[in-house]
Amino acid sequence: MNGGRPSPLSVNAVRYAWEELLARAGISTPETCPLRLRYGAMEFGGDSVQATVDVRCADEHAWTALLHAIRGELPEVELADLFPDHRGALHGRRPVLFAPPDAVLDEPVRLRGDTLTFEIDVIATTVFMLSRWEETVSTVMDAHERFPSNASVAVTHGFLDHPIVDEVAMALRSWIQVLAHSTELRPLRMTVALSHDVDRLRSVRGLRGSVRRLVGDVVRRRSLAALSASALQLRREWRDQTSAPAWAGVLDLARRSRSVGLSGTFFFIAAPQSDADGDYSVDSPTVTELVRQLAAAGFEIGLHGGYHTQCDGVELARQRRTLANVIPVRISRQHYLRFRTPDTWRALVEAGIEIDTTVGYADQEGFRAGTCHAFRVFDIERDEVLPLVELPLIVMDVTLRSYRELSPAAAVSRTLELAERCARVGGTFSLLWHNTSIGNQWPGWDDAYDRILAGLSLIQRGDG
Ligand SMILES: [Zn+2]
Repeated sequence: MNGGRPSPLSVNAVRYAWEELLARAGISTPETCPLRLRYGAMEFGGDSVQATVDVRCADEHAWTALLHAIRGELPEVELADLFPDHRGALHGRRPVLFAPPDAVLDEPVRLRGDTLTFEIDVIATTVFMLSRWEETVSTVMDAHERFPSNASVAVTHGFLDHPIVDEVAMALRSWIQVLAHSTELRPLRMTVALSHDVDRLRSVRGLRGSVRRLVGDVVRRRSLAALSASALQLRREWRDQTSAPAWAGVLDLARRSRSVGLSGTFFFIAAPQSDADGDYSVDSPTVTELVRQLAAAGFEIGLHGGYHTQCDGVELARQRRTLANVIPVRISRQHYLRFRTPDTWRALVEAGIEIDTTVGYADQEGFRAGTCHAFRVFDIERDEVLPLVELPLIVMDVTLRSYRELSPAAAVSRTLELAERCARVGGTFSLLWHNTSIGNQWPGWDDAYDRILAGLSLIQRGDG
């Protein structure tokens, strides 16, 4: 049906997309795949092939056309129609990002003999979403030089809420069960990845900050009671750093995680102290002790890459070494989620990081890369898989409260709604909650966080 139409994608990119889809479908090693995989003139296959999956290629103009398509302009398909007998566990309509011009979208997937044909170009879709190609060609940036969510194809066409790559993989999984039913597929199991960026460990920064806080209590809040409480707190912190609410917040988060049987990762800044970065030195005796205490309690320690490191592998490597002198480190997240594609991924590789978990939007929760599964990073400009895994970030506390201005109750239901979607595709729900958001530092939100944790542990156990 393809007639060997040449694909604008390289063999590396196509193989990468197949492997990522198969991994989500439950096949970990492509060699054990019971399918011949065809994409245009490219064919991949294992030793014991039982059927063929043929994906029809969109042409190369589809990539730039997609960037210019306005809302409502893309054709849509019903998710259930991607599954055998039009019956899947997933429902709803999704826009078609890539398809050949003559695609028959009334029947987006069809079986004839032992050949299954996808009219939708799920290979281009996978490469497009995971490589974040649109971010490499966009010049739109927010105040922190980040690619904002509203510049993305996902927000334009209303699917940021859905892990569209994983949804296609679930359809493929169902078809594998029909076409090669003896194939052993990895069970679907949702995991929760809690994480905490430790941006600050004090209430205010230095003497100037203290004066600003005290003057604010008098001038803005017109409260002598607040003034005296602040003065007392700041004096206490001056003598003992560990009495700060932000410090207590770290221990509070650890305690709350343990109480629901979850673990997590704390990311520490190792850049020099500055207004843009942290207010602590990770190699000071008290902070070092805190870090080691968390590690001893079973929490992973990661690097919170400094504000100015998004394109600076040398500085990122220096910061990794600073933290590695305290504790072994393999995972990181960029401060402020400052991230440029593919520069930051390259910088992380240069710094010796194995897992990054930055890819999520600060201004909106959801599936920036169309997935909630950890994925190997594909550098689309160099046409190669990098030795780095990306675990996408799905929800951040600051997004819910500050960018989206949700009430605590709305934040709970929104967070659990997205976690449910991760569960349906056996992915990882990655949630960021700061040590400066807990312990009544955000009045009314501690209870929301507890309800989120309780909900997550239910969903993870399959009772949600
Ligand atoms: Zn940060």
